[in-house]
Amino acid sequence: MGFIADSLNRIQPSATIAVSTKARQLAAQGRDIISLSAGEPDFDTPQNIKDAAKRALDEGKTKYTDVDGIPELKAAIVAKFKRENGLDYKTSQVSVGTGGKQVLYNALVGTLNPGDEVVMPAPCWVSYADIVALAGATPVFAETTLEDGYRLKPEALEKAITPKTKWFIFNSPSNPTGAAYSAADIKALTEVLLRHKHVWVLTDDIYEHLLYDGLTFATLANVEPQLYDRTLTMNGFSKAYCMTGWRLGYAAGPEPLINVMRKLQSQSTSNPSSIVQWAGVEALTGPQDFIAEHNAIFVERRDLVVSMLNQANGLQCPKPQGAFYVYPSIKAIIGQTSGAGTKIENDKDFVTALLEEEGVAVVHGAAFAGSPSFRVSYAASTAALKDACTRIQRFCGNLR
Ligand code: PLP
Repeated sequence: MGFIADSLNRIQPSATIAVSTKARQLAAQGRDIISLSAGEPDFDTPQNIKDAAKRALDEGKTKYTDVDGIPELKAAIVAKFKRENGLDYKTSQVSVGTGGKQVLYNALVGTLNPGDEVVMPAPCWVSYADIVALAGATPVFAETTLEDGYRLKPEALEKAITPKTKWFIFNSPSNPTGAAYSAADIKALTEVLLRHKHVWVLTDDIYEHLLYDGLTFATLANVEPQLYDRTLTMNGFSKAYCMTGWRLGYAAGPEPLINVMRKLQSQSTSNPSSIVQWAGVEALTGPQDFIAEHNAIFVERRDLVVSMLNQANGLQCPKPQGAFYVYPSIKAIIGQTSGAGTKIENDKDFVTALLEEEGVAVVHGAAFAGSPSFRVSYAASTAALKDACTRIQRFCGNLR
């Protein structure tokens, strides 16, 4: 249709949002649906953070703010980077936006031109490739394997980089695989990046605090300080602070890039909600102990889900060390037929049949450029997870 911008024809609606919406619609029609499709913690936002938002309202902090964040929040972010990541930034190097998604969007749309390439590990989060395509640039997938726990190897990164590469997007722990990288894993990747001085690095650290089995978090600009001048370190409140609906995220990097991001934001949304920014100050400066409490629960759920899925006929599910996702492969299932008679030619067929026949909503791997697999979010109650995994086992048991 000529009415629609060409740029919009290059992108797809978010697949994870589409699956969650379909699951909600089926449930509203009275179907017994378990949705393991959402990328959000099932825990409520901690009370101290809610109270800070209420205080901000009562104190009349309800006006426009600086476009990319109030000074108090920027100062809290600078302190966070120093304390948790050993990174030195000035407040002028910080950009705050309406969710990590807007911050990524500003950075990519603000710098990409047609012909540019952006390297990202596959599988990767749904929105990277679409934002790149919207900007007229080309996503380039650097493949990872189940055998490597979906961690990108230096050779695969090297192979994906060309003279046209503008950015490398890195994400640990990863959505959708849960793969988490040690400092040594990251160091090996930085050696490749040091050889390619024209490549900028966007590290998406939004799952930083959701890390298990004693693994310590490492971020790229800290592991290799020589990359500091061409790295944007992104983070946010959605996952660790259970604030998905509040919409707040941030990044720090070289000032000229931050200025570009501010310019773009000034002509789109302007500042993130003033009230939410004050809640963000409390999130970063208040007590952090709920994070460890949540993680203890996430580990139990991960172990349950990995064990139950590996007992399902034809599934192979690695045990990742971060985020709240697992990413089982259905390679052995392709070509089979479901109990109700659907031929499973790809992972989209698998998740569609699973939703229709057993009422379990998960996201197909094609949405993350990682087929044939599917993503399970274990940010759900233990009872729901047990029920869902039992249904998945039954579905796989009925395949012929
Ligand atoms: N990056 C990754 C890897 C994500 O999984 C998400 C959310 O699902 C985001 C960024 C964006 O999060 P938000 O916009 O809620 O801060």
